[in-house]
Amino acid sequence: MSAQIIDGNALSRQLRTEVAERAAALRARGVTPGLAVVLVGDSPASQVYVRNKVKACEDNGLHSVLEKYAADMSEAELLARVDALNRDPSIHGILVQLPLPAHIDAQKVIEAIAPEKDVDGFHVASAGALMTGTPGFWPCTPYGCMKMLESIGFELRGKHAVVIGRSNIVGKPMALMLLAKSATVTICHSATADLGAMTRQADVIVAAVGKRNVLTADMVKPGAVVIDVGMNRDDAGKLCGDVDFEGVKEVAGWITPVPGGVGPMTITMLLVNTIEAAERSAG
Ligand code: NAP
Repeated sequence: MSAQIIDGNALSRQLRTEVAERAAALRARGVTPGLAVVLVGDSPASQVYVRNKVKACEDNGLHSVLEKYAADMSEAELLARVDALNRDPSIHGILVQLPLPAHIDAQKVIEAIAPEKDVDGFHVASAGALMTGTPGFWPCTPYGCMKMLESIGFELRGKHAVVIGRSNIVGKPMALMLLAKSATVTICHSATADLGAMTRQADVIVAAVGKRNVLTADMVKPGAVVIDVGMNRDDAGKLCGDVDFEGVKEVAGWITPVPGGVGPMTITMLLVNTIEAAERSAG
């Protein structure tokens, strides 16, 4: 039997309609929600990412500012720009595109963003808010995965969730979000002794590794929900995830495709966080 597909494009369209409605409501109160996107350097991949973020803002009634700087910009100059954006009342969210050039301490720059404008959710204050269950911004990619689970009406309480990957931007926050919904959570990583033994127990598997075919059909319990965060290239150069989609879809109950799964959700949740920041600031 073939798994049902969780369509990230369709869910994104629905959520972006809600974003556009909230943006219109704010504009009617004289507040245009604003996102500043800061890009340092000329990495082609980063240029595509920031362009997509700016376009998503424009399409949904948010104001966006793209600040592009040369790769040799100093750390002090970048910190001064972040400080200016922190004080700019037309800007409600600040995103500094990562990775930054090696001479800039990315964590220092993230910590310079005012927590109330940290729409990427990478600031330690945001991480602490997620850890303690207090209001803050959730990192967009795992937040999008939670929305995908919500969209299929999946009840996490009492279920076993296995997260593969423990990065600060995906794996760890993902595990905390699942825990907050009362799932029993296992976090796996490169030193996990027997990954399949863990994933075969899972009702939900989130793969966030960055390696093709980390999860194959024999590692999945029949009917499990499989969320694929990975972004890799196959031998033909085509975008693919961490999951052996063709094999796993014959065993899983639900599965996200790559492309068209988690990817579009990430930008959508950035818009949601920016609207939220503008609403909080407007009171
Ligand atoms: P990352 O920082 O490189 O983390 C990868 C994690 O996978 C690490 O925790 C690593 O373990 C673990 N790992 C590596 N090999 C493993 C193995 N064989 N078995 C089990 N775990 C293993 O990557 P990331 O930033 O979290 O991103 C993960 C993937 O998601 C990448 O493909 C990235 O491009 C993609 N991504 C997609 C989106 C989107 O919008 N769709 C957003 C963000 C990221 P250790 O900690 O032990 O090294």
